[in-house]
Amino acid sequence: MHMDLNTVVELRDARERGTWRPGDAWLGGGTYLFSEPQPHIRRLFDLNRMGWEALRPTPDGGLEIAATCTIAQLSRHPKPAGWTAAPLFEQCCRAFLASWKIWNAATVGGNLCNGLPAGPMISLTAALDGVCRLLDRSGATRTLPVGDFVLGAGVKDLRPGELLRSITLPGRALARRTAFRQASLYGLGRSGALVIGTLDPVDGEFALHITAATVRPVRLGFAVPPNAEAVREAVEHAVAPDEYFDDIHGLPAWRRHMTLRFAEEVRRELVEPDRSVEPDRSVESGGPVEPVGPVESAGPVASTASDTTEEAGR
Ligand SMILES: Cc1cc2nc3c(=O)[nH]c(=O)nc-3n(C[C@H](O)[C@H](O)[C@H](O)COP(=O)(O)OP(=O)(O)OC[C@H]3O[C@@H](n4cnc5c(N)ncnc54)[C@H](O)[C@@H]3O)c2cc1C
Repeated sequence: MHMDLNTVVELRDARERGTWRPGDAWLGGGTYLFSEPQPHIRRLFDLNRMGWEALRPTPDGGLEIAATCTIAQLSRHPKPAGWTAAPLFEQCCRAFLASWKIWNAATVGGNLCNGLPAGPMISLTAALDGVCRLLDRSGATRTLPVGDFVLGAGVKDLRPGELLRSITLPGRALARRTAFRQASLYGLGRSGALVIGTLDPVDGEFALHITAATVRPVRLGFAVPPNAEAVREAVEHAVAPDEYFDDIHGLPAWRRHMTLRFAEEVRRELVEPDRSVEPDRSVESGGPVEPVGPVESAGPVASTASDTTEEAGR
């Protein structure tokens, strides 16, 4: 990846203290920062020498993911047998429209801080009750759920000079059963709709997590298993028409359609497994096609040709 950022006058080590100025930005993997002009940026603070351990277990059986952990590291990390939610990691890592280079350089923290609706690390960590730990220049920390951190397309709750240090997934969330559906408008496209269902083995709560289709992550919890109508109503009620994202990767009407369809599919898979129609794993789950990571041209594919092309209108 090569890009001349000719407005950037300094590249600094993030360990250095100093005053945060307008035009300063944190540098994660640089896959977004170096992919397009950044006329407002003057100084970059490189987080890569912070020496943060990429992944570490927490006392409650959960997982702390450092902001600088790459997509490749997260994908490769061994998942203990008790993590019923383990498949979700790979499904989300592969929902990334990513070349080999990006897969190895892009960081989980950079994905959250970019705040794109199609940020698959937002989908993953929001669905597993991830909690963001933020660090300001004085060393003070604050924590907030991923769903409260990402507030809109590219909008996040990050104050000037504050950085995302880590995301912690509680052990309880990792024990949940999960179901995953994702669609892109075209074969190598960015996610246009991504729906994750989770079922908690302790209290039986079924939850739906909508990302990519919407400008922000949406979570819907059901204390008792809902029927199809209840799910549909809940989605329609929770997502206002103008909250369906509109860009080159999909029209709002198509994103809404796919969201409703996927919501019903994950409901069936988790609460009515006998009636559920198994998706074609190689297509709907975005992989894995081969175990070592995506090759240069590989990427997630559209869920079904008819839905993705005809109804998209693009
Ligand atoms: C070909 C291509 C395909 C892509 N596909 C996708 C896709 O499918 N989905 C998607 O979401 N993105 C996609 N991206 C965009 C980008 O690669 C990802 O969002 C990636 O995860 C960003 O991570 P990074 O570590 O490279 O972030 P960087 O580029 O280093 O930074 C991204 C932003 O986050 C800030 N930042 C980074 N780390 C921190 C931190 N710890 N604390 C505070 N701020 C921080 C930076 O200042 C910057 O504003 C794609 C990019 C390319 C070039």
